[in-house]
Amino acid sequence: MLSIIIPFYNEAESLPTLIKHLIEVLEKIKKEAEIILVDDGSDDSSKFKIQNSKLQFKTQNYQIKLISHRKRFGKGKALQTGIENSSGEVIIFMDADLQDEPNDLLRLLEKIGQGYDLVNGIRQDRQDNFIIKTYSFIAKLFLKIFFRSPFTDINCGFKAFKKEVLQDFTFYGNNFRFFPLYAFYKGYKVVEIEVKNHPRQFGKSKFGKSKLFIGILDTLTAYFLYQFSEKPLHFFGIFGTILFFMGNVILMYLAVERLFYHVLLYRRPILFLGMLLVIVGIQVVMTGMIGELIVFFQKKKN
Ligand code: UDP
Ligand code: MG
Repeated sequence: MLSIIIPFYNEAESLPTLIKHLIEVLEKIKKEAEIILVDDGSDDSSKFKIQNSKLQFKTQNYQIKLISHRKRFGKGKALQTGIENSSGEVIIFMDADLQDEPNDLLRLLEKIGQGYDLVNGIRQDRQDNFIIKTYSFIAKLFLKIFFRSPFTDINCGFKAFKKEVLQDFTFYGNNFRFFPLYAFYKGYKVVEIEVKNHPRQFGKSKFGKSKLFIGILDTLTAYFLYQFSEKPLHFFGIFGTILFFMGNVILMYLAVERLFYHVLLYRRPILFLGMLLVIVGIQVVMTGMIGELIVFFQKKKN
């Protein structure tokens, strides 16, 4: 069975067309399928439009589920809600804004049929402005260098994967963007194919300009969690030791001057810098130790 999960926030104009097109495509696939629409706290007429479409397409063998969040919790949470309510072995993520081409679904599924565990879309002729494109390019490079990412367009909303890929993946904040990478790290077979990307016809993008800055923070969090959550001391240890070392060099220099050249220590602001670096350095290393303790007890419990 196939579960198509579509998170949406105020997409009333797009939804009926999307459902119609999807059903047309599903007819071609001839497989049992469910369309799971996750309403992320919309306050427009989205729900009403879905009810109408449901009545309209009642004859179909496909189930259309509508699940609503009480308020807007964000796309990541909406995807998670969709997964929790899905029963398919193969899951599709798709945006609700008609930017993804429903016909591409066939090509995504073809790859799954060929034995891949996760198929990620690469948006062709991306309909975003110059700033977003540049930003994406930098993000891609960063991911390639620091995460050894094999993906070209990790943030593409259109993907297909086997449900097992999600096993022990924890959705948290905006980390849904990195879940293809997680699958890759876990040794699942991943592949990317090109998918069409239409311009947005109705409404506005739901991710404002803050996306840029928040995106950077998310990437840093992901970097930290994936690289160091098992060994926090490697991160804090190195960082803290560098600070501690710099502080020591300064203090040593001051000590030599004081002892052998009789330069008095008052009126030497650098003394404070040296002391500060030593103390902060020790604290940072200790934070890493506490991190190690947390990881250790977590593992022991399981
Ligand atoms: N979306 C959502 N909750 C949010 C933000 C977005 O459910 O808080 C949905 C949105 O309705 C759309 C999909 O996530 O179906 C992708 O959003 P959008 O098209 O605005 O992002 P963009 O394509 O501009 O990156
Ligand atoms: Mg979009």
